[in-house]
Amino acid sequence: MSSSATAGIRTYKNYVNGEWVASASGQTFPVYDPSTEEVIAEVAAAGAADVDLAVKAARAAFDSGPWATTTAQDRGRVLFKLAEKIRQNSPQLAEIECRNTGKPIVEAEYDIADVATCFEYYGGLATKVLGSVNPVPANALSFTLREPVGVAGQIIPWNYPLLMAAWKLAPALAAGCTCVLKPAEQTPLTALEFANCFGEVGLPPGVVNILNGPGETAGAALVAHPGVDKIAFTGSAAVGKIIVKSAADTLKRVTLELGGKSPNIFFTDADWEASIDGALFGVFINQGEVCSAGSRILVEKKIYSKFVEAMTEKAKRIKLGAPLERDTKMGPLVSKEQYDRVSSYLELGKKEAKVAIGGGRPKQFGKGYYVEPTIFYDVDNTARIAREEIFGPVASVIPFDGEADAIRIANDTPYGLAAAVWTRDIYKAFRVVKSLRAGIVWVNHMQPTYVEAPWGGYKQSGFGRELGPWGLEEYLETKQVFVNLDETPIGWY
Ligand code: NAP
Ligand code: MG
Repeated sequence: MSSSATAGIRTYKNYVNGEWVASASGQTFPVYDPSTEEVIAEVAAAGAADVDLAVKAARAAFDSGPWATTTAQDRGRVLFKLAEKIRQNSPQLAEIECRNTGKPIVEAEYDIADVATCFEYYGGLATKVLGSVNPVPANALSFTLREPVGVAGQIIPWNYPLLMAAWKLAPALAAGCTCVLKPAEQTPLTALEFANCFGEVGLPPGVVNILNGPGETAGAALVAHPGVDKIAFTGSAAVGKIIVKSAADTLKRVTLELGGKSPNIFFTDADWEASIDGALFGVFINQGEVCSAGSRILVEKKIYSKFVEAMTEKAKRIKLGAPLERDTKMGPLVSKEQYDRVSSYLELGKKEAKVAIGGGRPKQFGKGYYVEPTIFYDVDNTARIAREEIFGPVASVIPFDGEADAIRIANDTPYGLAAAVWTRDIYKAFRVVKSLRAGIVWVNHMQPTYVEAPWGGYKQSGFGRELGPWGLEEYLETKQVFVNLDETPIGWY
């Protein structure tokens, strides 16, 4: 069992080599419900010694365990079984995700369904990894083998805990890699619960290991470990930079899914009601704790004032509430740390721009890390609230004057994860799409994300892609094989 309960507080260990193990140091750390600020679990804190054990287990499983000879078809079957387990346990997993992150239960249910879909998708893709035959000018046969990269170290954030784990584990397993996953210390619970079924579905020991603990210790040790072949990281740009530097010492492969300050662009001719909805949904879904949040709302001057007014009116309807209540549309932020961080941006925003709505803590809650959905307007794109990722329910509305101005402002950011453009003019829509320096661009929508399509950023939003066949590629090496068919000696000497 992953956990045991004492006085309502569950305790969890690390999952290493198919077993639940305490940390070498014996240390644990608390995990909270951000809506009540109460401790809901105590989790083993992994350090360098635990990382070493987990990496050795993953290494052995990759180099000589049964996984090394498991066929692609059977790996696919394991992934299908993982998906089935997720679907069977989805009510419990959604509830745990909801309680641990503070996200509304309805959103948590969507997340868990997406987790299952992700495993199904990569279960199917496992048998579609194809090489090539290369037309070399020799009496020879040249072809490629696609082989797993090896041991993957996977470090994930707290905003979509089990979904981010799925985006990393599913393609890695489809490719034949073994994994050491480190969830964010705020939100390890669903990944740990998920591990309960690993033995049952036929994952050999050591193929997936899960370590809890702070990034600065457990995460850093994983990145530095010479037994790890690749690091897949999702998180902030600041930590991404630290990871790239550390990974350089062992020349690991690195893929990074980092933050953003994504523009959501509204032209005068866009559908009005859909636009107002899209502006709010783009930035307030999941409490704004979304890497692709449309946190810069660019609005054409002709409709600007009316747009801010309409957004403000509609934002009043966003129901903040207890995460487990089905009509809640916004829960608390994930942690005290994040609450303090977002609150400091609210104070900064009041100096840098005008407040249309929000700007503080909602009065109705005695407890919990709640923040009002906040709309700043008349924001200059050079303001810090327009340049820095806030990762909370905070929108910066910026006016623009025509297409060229919109593109200029949209691209004037160090980030390049996502963008959206709203217009009924197909010429304009595609001109803007082509001009935007971002890895994901939506037209007349913002945020839909599907496992079939690639996900990742330009510029300081990272490199590499997740999802779709692109996500699988990142876990594959390419081996070139040359087979000489000419039996005569080379005759060179
Ligand atoms: P974070 O502080 O960068 O942390 C992300 C992960 O890295 C956590 O597991 C963290 O551990 C770990 N970590 C921290 N320092 C580390 C170090 N020195 N070495 C190795 N690992 C380390 O980000 P966050 O606050 O959890 O999440 C928010 C960020 O993630 C935002 O910037 C957001 O945009 C980004 N994000 C991006 C995507 C995407 O797909 N592009 C998706 C979701 C989130 P601990 O927290 O446990 O200490
Ligand atoms: Mg952190």
